Amino acid sequence: MSNASKFDMIKPVIVGAGPAGIRAAQTLVSHGLRPTVLDESPSWGGQIYRQPSVHFKRTKKGLYGFEAGRADSVHQAMAEILDRVDYHPDTLVWNAQDNQLDTLSSGKTSVSSYSHLILATGATDRVLPFEGWTLPGVYSLGAAQIALKAQGNSIGDRVVLMGTGPLLYLVAYQYVRAGANVVAVLDTSKRKSQVAATGSMLSLPSVLLKGVYYIAWLRAHGVPLFEGINPIRASGHERVTGIVWEDDRGNHEISCDAIGFGYALRSETQLADILGCRFSFDRLQRAHLPERDECGRSSIDGVYLAGDGAGIMGADAAEKAGELVALTLISDAQPSLIHEKDRTRMKELQSELSRIKRFRLGLEQAFPFPQNWANQTPDDLIICRCEEISAGQIRQAVQVNGAIEINRVKALTRVGMGRCQSRMCAAAAAEIIADCAGIDISEVGRLRGQPPIKPIPFVTEQQTGETQIRDKQ
Ligand SMILES: Cc1cc2nc3c(=O)[nH]c(=O)nc-3n(C[C@H](O)[C@H](O)[C@H](O)COP(=O)(O)OP(=O)(O)OC[C@H]3O[C@@H](n4cnc5c(N)ncnc54)[C@H](O)[C@@H]3O)c2cc1C
Repeated sequence: MSNASKFDMIKPVIVGAGPAGIRAAQTLVSHGLRPTVLDESPSWGGQIYRQPSVHFKRTKKGLYGFEAGRADSVHQAMAEILDRVDYHPDTLVWNAQDNQLDTLSSGKTSVSSYSHLILATGATDRVLPFEGWTLPGVYSLGAAQIALKAQGNSIGDRVVLMGTGPLLYLVAYQYVRAGANVVAVLDTSKRKSQVAATGSMLSLPSVLLKGVYYIAWLRAHGVPLFEGINPIRASGHERVTGIVWEDDRGNHEISCDAIGFGYALRSETQLADILGCRFSFDRLQRAHLPERDECGRSSIDGVYLAGDGAGIMGADAAEKAGELVALTLISDAQPSLIHEKDRTRMKELQSELSRIKRFRLGLEQAFPFPQNWANQTPDDLIICRCEEISAGQIRQAVQVNGAIEINRVKALTRVGMGRCQSRMCAAAAAEIIADCAGIDISEVGRLRGQPPIKPIPFVTEQQTGETQIRDKQ
């Protein structure tokens, strides 16, 4: 069979043009394949290497700091293969079945078929609500960073950043470097956890050093850092005007006009779910994740998983996982295209990913999930803001209806049924169910993905003949 006809049988599609998706595309191209790359963002780069709009002129160093070199390398990699991939930006994949993806671009839906699929869909913030979190002026930490990276904006004039995880200090550093006024960084983890985890994080000393540097830099620049805090409420009526928190020394309050908060990240797993990939509970990430083997194969033939969408491992791991799944895909689809050097590279990538995994263990120790969150959450706190479902309503479903499985609680209360399709509230709702029922978080299950995985327009013809677009969902 000629090379051309061999390649015709392989139609790889990659969802996501972040570090994982780009390295996967680059690897497929380097082996003579022509992948389709679909991404809902207007340009490639993903979350960490998100590119600003064309008229926005901050330097790469200013935008990405220490990561400027890597950002450049990832951006360049994609720029160099543009003529050998079918790249579709601004294209949301909202459903997947039978080797076909339903997409939405410029208000139009279409279908993209594949023989092999790489899901490199990344992550979003893990949100744990607190009183006042729905006030205008309260953002997720990731959203606060997107405002800065994509538009050069601070979320406010007096910004509080709160939660836990490495992104907390990184965003604080980026904000202050960009000239924003960060009036407090409130970390629910204790500094002693971070010190205790140093040993485990030594597997990647340069990454550890960067984290230490951010904290030292913020301190040296007079940014007030508080650790071991417990958020009490964001105050304000029409928008946020302050934050109240407690620590070992008592209650504290500071005025602010914006809060960015988040507790590490959660993987975007809906497409894997809709495709029927097998999931299992990952204790480290406190989440049900699609299973994958050491090369990134899911439980479904021809579906591969790479990057943060399959478990939070960070951007460097995403690049390596993207390259590894692409090599795996090629070796499954057309083994003759894989040479000895590819097999050696696959082994190297696997061992580098194992090293990063050890580092991840350290990170989770350094910035532990706030175990007491669910227990301390008042009944009247809104957990699902799309459907306005409170912690009390979730508890009632557990206590009165005996529901302990999250899809059952959803059916009874509508938690997770709104526009965000549970991307914001599922983690918090699961914690409340587990705490209220006195069961392990792994036993609560996971909310099943439903197409469309994100809101899509519902187009109707009006009598006037004008096209009206409404939100479906
Ligand atoms: C808001 C945010 C900010 C972050 N900032 C940093 C940072 O500054 N430094 C750092 O080290 N780490 C950061 N992280 C973590 C970092 O983004 C990841 O480790 C890294 O980007 C993972 O790469 P990835 O390719 O797996 O996913 P991503 O970079 O997230 O890329 C995934 C891509 O998939 C696309 N996508 C997802 N679902 C669909 C769909 N259904 N249809 C079409 N396209 C889809 C997205 O538009 C995105 O471009 C951040 C994470 C988030 C959520």
